[in-house]
Amino acid sequence: MTDFTTATASCVERLQDLIRIPSTNPPEDLGGAAGNDPTGGETAAARYCADVLTGAGIGAEVLEAAPGRGCCFARLRATVANPLPPLILLSHLDVVPVEAASWSRDPFGGELVDGIVWGRGAVDMKDMVAMELTVMELLNASGMERQRDLIFAGVADEEAGGTFGASHWVTARPDLFGSAAGVAAAALNEVGGYSMVVGDERYYTIQVAEKGIIWTRLLAEGVAGHGSMPHDANPTIRLAEAVARIAALEPSGTPPPVVKDFFAGLGLADAFAARADSVAAARTLIDARVSDPALRRSLAAMLVDTITPTVIRSGSKMNVIPGTGMGEVDVRTLPGTDQEALLERIRTAAGPDVRVEALHRLPPVEADAAAEIVGLMTDALVQADPQATPLPMMITPGTDAKALATIGIPTYGFAPLRLDADMPFLSLFHGHDERVPVSALAFGLPVLYEVVSRFVGVDGADR
Ligand SMILES: [Zn+2]
Repeated sequence: MTDFTTATASCVERLQDLIRIPSTNPPEDLGGAAGNDPTGGETAAARYCADVLTGAGIGAEVLEAAPGRGCCFARLRATVANPLPPLILLSHLDVVPVEAASWSRDPFGGELVDGIVWGRGAVDMKDMVAMELTVMELLNASGMERQRDLIFAGVADEEAGGTFGASHWVTARPDLFGSAAGVAAAALNEVGGYSMVVGDERYYTIQVAEKGIIWTRLLAEGVAGHGSMPHDANPTIRLAEAVARIAALEPSGTPPPVVKDFFAGLGLADAFAARADSVAAARTLIDARVSDPALRRSLAAMLVDTITPTVIRSGSKMNVIPGTGMGEVDVRTLPGTDQEALLERIRTAAGPDVRVEALHRLPPVEADAAAEIVGLMTDALVQADPQATPLPMMITPGTDAKALATIGIPTYGFAPLRLDADMPFLSLFHGHDERVPVSALAFGLPVLYEVVSRFVGVDGADR
């Protein structure tokens, strides 16, 4: 019988410790907050994970794709002959920078106040790192026979695209993500798993898909000159007009079946159906039923390809017309969208004076919502919270799932957390005052352990 009270206490302490290692990405943003490791917080975080695992009797190694960009890999080997392909507990150790002045508490303090752990990474995603470390420890200590390897992969650089993390290691060392039985059967990763309340009902998200990405740059050419003598080739105007036209493009894309089923499960089938005629009509129906503004935006973004201008940069002096201007547009595509065709629409909208370049393109990912492990997640959630309904879903951001997909590993977002209805969970990702209730971890840890032990263990969980 596993003692989850003690395990949850260890998990909370590990989360606090990890938050106190400011593994900010990009590392230049560390400033004076680099903690005890001047070579980079990711390596310090990776060493911390390796120390925890080694202390639990599990061999672990820290690998760096570049100095300071540390990842921690560890493995509990199968105990049977002819094992099945492994399961990966995937996470990223880096966090996004903070604007400390906007926080109520020290973002790297890891404070535990009134049952809530505060700090950068509390939900994205050192909470899951701490839960995964603890599950590794518990499974090892249980003495359970294992029908597959269980791999811990805490990687660097997710927040900047994974060049020094998952993307690097799946290419350089695919063996880290598989065994003699082949590549891993599945990976469990961040984002999905949290509860949400729509109407009076509580739902749990099981993330089986994520949108594709086209990070797009706009380059406006023009003619430099004196601000007192305007002309028709001002790149600031060209850029601003192009951005306005691009932002006003008619929404495109067809939501995949998982989104249709998710909306139906939430009682929002009418909003999904309305999308065929008008995205605005769908939004109205969503807004009428869902109170959390971030959840409203998330649901609306599941229905379309989104085109979001984020950066406009042109000129540097009041009385100088610049020669060029630059803009950036964050484009997120549904599964099934032809990214090249969408880029062509953006080019047409930008017009002849603004060049459009795709800086970084990644396809959407979709895993099998009917896979055995999704059934285990559903069972574990229903067992732990019989009143709630688990639902497979697609997220709108991207994760390291994209890197693992390139070597054929399906990744599921499953960081189970039971949250109060008033918790603005989705706003905490990359937000100020990032925090997580201990009660959410106390709920999630046994659920995660149940799924892992039933998938990896020969006899299932030791209930
Ligand atoms: Zn994350």
